[in-house]
This record gives sequence, structure tokens and C-alpha cells, in this order.
Amino acid sequence: MSKSLQAIRGMNDILPEQTPLWRYFEGTVARLLDNYGYKQIRMPIVEFTELFKRSIGEVTDIVEKEMYTFEDRNGDSLTLRPEGTAACVRAVLEHGITGGGQVQKLWYIGPMFRHERPQKGRYRQFHQIGLEVFNLDGPDIDAELITMTWRLWGELGIRDAVKLELNSLGTSESRGRYREALVEYLSAHHDKLDEDSQRRLKTNPLRVLDTKNADTQAVLVDAPKMADYLDDESRAHFEGLKARLDAVGIPYVLNPKLVRGLDYYSKTVFEWVTDKLGAQGTVCAGGRYDGLVEQMGGKPTTGVGFAMGIERLVLMLETLEQIPEEISRQVDVYLCAFGEEAELAGLALAERVRNQLPNLRLQVNAGAGSFKSQFKKADKSGALYALILGDDEMAQQVVGFKPLRGQGEQQSIAWDALAAHLATCVVQG
Ligand code: ATP
Ligand code: MG
Repeated sequence: MSKSLQAIRGMNDILPEQTPLWRYFEGTVARLLDNYGYKQIRMPIVEFTELFKRSIGEVTDIVEKEMYTFEDRNGDSLTLRPEGTAACVRAVLEHGITGGGQVQKLWYIGPMFRHERPQKGRYRQFHQIGLEVFNLDGPDIDAELITMTWRLWGELGIRDAVKLELNSLGTSESRGRYREALVEYLSAHHDKLDEDSQRRLKTNPLRVLDTKNADTQAVLVDAPKMADYLDDESRAHFEGLKARLDAVGIPYVLNPKLVRGLDYYSKTVFEWVTDKLGAQGTVCAGGRYDGLVEQMGGKPTTGVGFAMGIERLVLMLETLEQIPEEISRQVDVYLCAFGEEAELAGLALAERVRNQLPNLRLQVNAGAGSFKSQFKKADKSGALYALILGDDEMAQQVVGFKPLRGQGEQQSIAWDALAAHLATCVVQG
């Protein structure tokens, strides 16, 4: 195929054979979020570039090298959203729905765009489910977010394969004092740092903690620790969070090097990581951002949130073979009709059954065909039962009811009794 007719590198089609698993995953998360009292918000995919620069921070990987930015026909600089928090904060401010301390528990789902090197678990268009809570500043809500994800991993059958990493970045004052101490220490070891870290030391020193370079990691072993610089309030917040996780029985690992790639975090930061996906091990990440709303021009408003990568979690379900059997079956019943008269009767019958059983997945054969070919299609559809309308059935006003997966013999069912019969033998999703 000529290059211009291919999808953009790192931007994937999700094919029909994959969408059942996506919908199962998304449906499971959506139900959980509903049950915990979160409300969905939908933001545009494109925003003014300035929004991301102001919120994510000018000297982060995302803003420095990963954004899809372009000028529109008015000459405005626009950017495909690389994440959801910035737009969500913009939306709540624009609509005044966090004013006066009003609590908002919001979630969103959709595509995000980052110009990264595509590889397994890392794409240029990827999908997140994210969540933001405004105007709740205690550790109880941080704990709720983590508890909710813990429940999700349990429901999905992947709890044993993920690990919670936790850290506190403190308030911006304590982080400022820590930054100074870190810069002093790292400057004294400047020559042993890799080039990237030398640069970050000047622009965004906390990010040095994030390095993958072994020599720099060796230097970091004796570096000052954020935990020693936490102010009393941040310390109490962190202890409150840990006590709650202990109470629910959620294991965690303290990771003093966990700083996250975005500038806006304060106090709690966390990541759920797995060793089942190779290098792209973080499946869900988030934290508290008490200063962000004010930094974006709003009144002081605390915030906490996270985002999970849908591709990585779907990959995990596949890798760990945690795919519920029922999701791969998309047809319950397949109706075969032979001859024009039977086709008409079949169509009317199918509509009557659909009236009575709105959740039944009933597929009517299209394109006519011989007995053999229609049966082949019925079988291939994955249906549990075939319904048959031929000359004999038409004469008797019945329909042949044939189990396709080896549960018993074919029977004849009167047209009027069909819906009631199907209701007893098909578990409706
Ligand atoms: P990473 O360290 O893997 O680059 P990140 O810190 O940049 O992740 P966040 O901005 O916190 O990621 O996004 C939250 C989640 O979104 C990540 O934990 C991951 O599951 C997912 N994610 C981020 N970038 C990508 C990507 N390019 N492709 C697929 N999933 C991604
Ligand atoms: Mg990244």
C-alpha cells in the first residue's frame, strides 16, 4: 500500500476482534467509578498549546519533545492533548464548578497524543481513563483512589501482577528546600552524572531521580532523601494515607525516587507497576496537585487524580490470559431462513423477539444461501443456538431450535413461545 494510505506510526486501529476486550475493560472501570460516586466529564481533544505549557511545565519531557502542536487557520497554536488533567482543570475553572470549595469527583476516557518512540506498550495515540477530585485535601480521598484501583485489579484478575509504589513530594516549600539540598549534592558529583541528568540539574533537578542511567543511579544512592525534608503537614498526610492502605490491606513499596514526569504534583504520588510488560511497566499513575488550579488562574483548590493506560492494561489481560469467556461470544442466536416466504416471516419473528428480549444478541442471516452455507455462518458467528425456518417449519408455524454447542437435540418451538423459550436458555449480558 502506498505510504500515504497507511495509519500514522504509533497510531493504531483497534480491530473488531480486539474491541470486545476493550469494551469489557472500559465497562468494568466505568461501573466501578459509578459505584464510587464519580461523574464523567468529556473535554475536547485539542486545546490551546499554552494550557499544556502552563500546567504540565515547560521543562518536562511532554512539553519539550512529545507534543503534537500545530497552527490552525486562524494562526492559533493548538495541541492534541497529551494528558487529561490540564483540560479537566481548565473545564472546571471555565464552568465555575469548583468555586466556593465545591467538591467534584470526575473521570474521563479518551485518546491522548505524545510523539514518543513507538514500541510495545508505548504509542503516539494511546488511551487513558483518568480521574480528578477537587476540593478534598485529606489523605482519605488519596486512599480512596488507590483502594478503587486495587479493587479494579482484583475484578480484572491481575492483582497479583501489579505493585503499588508510593512517595510524598511534600508541599512546594518543603520540595523547594529539598531541591536545594539535592542540587548542592548533585553539583558536587557533577562529572559522574550522565548528560541528560546534567541538563536536568539546571532545568528540573527532581527529574534526575528518575534517571535510568546506572552511573547516575550510583551517585543517587547517597543523595539527600525527600522524606527527610517533609514538613509536618505533609508527613501527617502521608502517614494518614499509609494507615488507610494498611487498614484495607493494600501492600505498597515506598519509592523515594518516584517523582513523576509532570511538574504539578505535591504530597502523594503513586504508580501501579508490573513486570509483565517489559520496559513499559507503569499501568496507572497519579498523585496530588494542590497548587495546580491556582497556578492556572483559579482560586486555591486542592486536587488529586490518576490516569491509567488502557493499551497497557488490555495487554496485561491478554498476557495473563484474564479474558472472560463470555466476552468473546458476540452472538447468542442466529436465525437461518430458507426461501423468500421464510425470510419475510423470519424478519417479522426476529423483530417480535427483539421487542420482548431487548438484550438478546440475535443475528438474522443476510444474503440468503443454501442450508449448508447458512449453517456454516451460524456456527462461525459463535452463536449458541440456530433458529431454522424452512418449508416444514413455515407450514406448522414453528421454528427449529438447534443447539450449536452440543447441548441437546433440535426441537420445534411455536412462534409465539419463542421469546419465552430463549429467555430460559440464553444468559443475557
Ligand atoms: P511512562 O513513564 O511510561 O512514559 P508517564 O509517566 O509518561 O509514563 P503518565 O503521563 O503518568 O505516564 O500517564 C499515565 C499512564 O498512561 C501511564 O502510566 C501509562 O499507563 C499510560 N501511558 C503514558 N504514555 C503512554 C504511551 N505513550 N503509550 C501508551 N500508554 C501510555
Ligand atoms: Mg512518558
